Amino acid sequence: MHATLPLLQQTEFPAIARDAVEVLQVNLGYRCNQSCVHCHVNAGPTRTETMSREIVDEVLQYLRSTRVPTLDITGGAPELHAQFRYLVTQARALDVHVMDRCNLTIVHEPGQEDLVEFLAAQQVEVVASLPCYLEDNVNRQRGAGVFQGSLTALRKLNAAGYAQPGTGLRLNLVYNPQGPSLPPSQAKLEEDYRRTLRDEHGIAFDRLYTLANMPIARFGSTLVSKGQFAGYMRLLKDNYHADNLAQVMCRSLLSVDFQGYVYDCDFNQMLGLPLKIGQKQRVKLRDVQHAELRGNPIQIADHCYGCTAGQGSSCGGALESER
Ligand code: SF4
Ligand code: SF4
Repeated sequence: MHATLPLLQQTEFPAIARDAVEVLQVNLGYRCNQSCVHCHVNAGPTRTETMSREIVDEVLQYLRSTRVPTLDITGGAPELHAQFRYLVTQARALDVHVMDRCNLTIVHEPGQEDLVEFLAAQQVEVVASLPCYLEDNVNRQRGAGVFQGSLTALRKLNAAGYAQPGTGLRLNLVYNPQGPSLPPSQAKLEEDYRRTLRDEHGIAFDRLYTLANMPIARFGSTLVSKGQFAGYMRLLKDNYHADNLAQVMCRSLLSVDFQGYVYDCDFNQMLGLPLKIGQKQRVKLRDVQHAELRGNPIQIADHCYGCTAGQGSSCGGALESER
């Protein structure tokens, strides 16, 4: 795989600084039941990196002492982690809002038969990848049979109360483009998804988040192999919108890797660009528990243009629509 960090480090992206932490995003490890083409963490069934119980407890200690209101759990497929349910139940007992970045097909894996019921009982918000409402496109990006497997999972979530009136169980979908292009309008695409999934498949969801592909990891490497890297960077830069800078997710999100090191965002985690405090080049979650991160410089590189291009992009979807 081609390393993309050396291609990104020379940057003119504006300096930005952190705000108060609102979301703790925890990557439990890289094991996944899928191996998607665009995956920015290079996850797959053979990856063995996984967060220890000790670090999981440090995450809970951080939540307990800081009162950060939201825990966003990601991977890999986080549900495959042995401590996933422990982490969720303990965080919910602290009244922390929990989000599960779910790839949908995980609900069909052995041992996950009661996953949907567990998530519903814990009032976990599900954020699920469904990169298209057309079968061929999904299978091309995520693997054979993934589309039908995803629909079955969505029906299961709906049956458990997700995206149903009055339950408070939120189910959001995530779209990202198939190739080196910017996502279309989030509002318009959400309408298309809603109509197609409802009329053709009887499926409901709450919101659709459109995300730009980042020129890093597997997607970035593919761009390099195809000679499309420079062109994609040009596209991101040509569509730079300064208004999006105020809302980039790194201002209010803290990302933790499976070893407990912290980053300004998940993308920086994958690039190996750790959060720095003063002269400390790398810090762990337990080191920042009592630290004031407001005003701390964010580690930027050229991939940051992926967050500010067009309508903007964050793990909560477009930024522009929030204004
Ligand atoms: S499901 Fe998600 S974590 Fe797993 S390979 Fe696909 S993009 Fe990566
Ligand atoms: S990639 Fe996006 S979220 Fe990460 S540091 Fe850059 S602007 Fe912030």
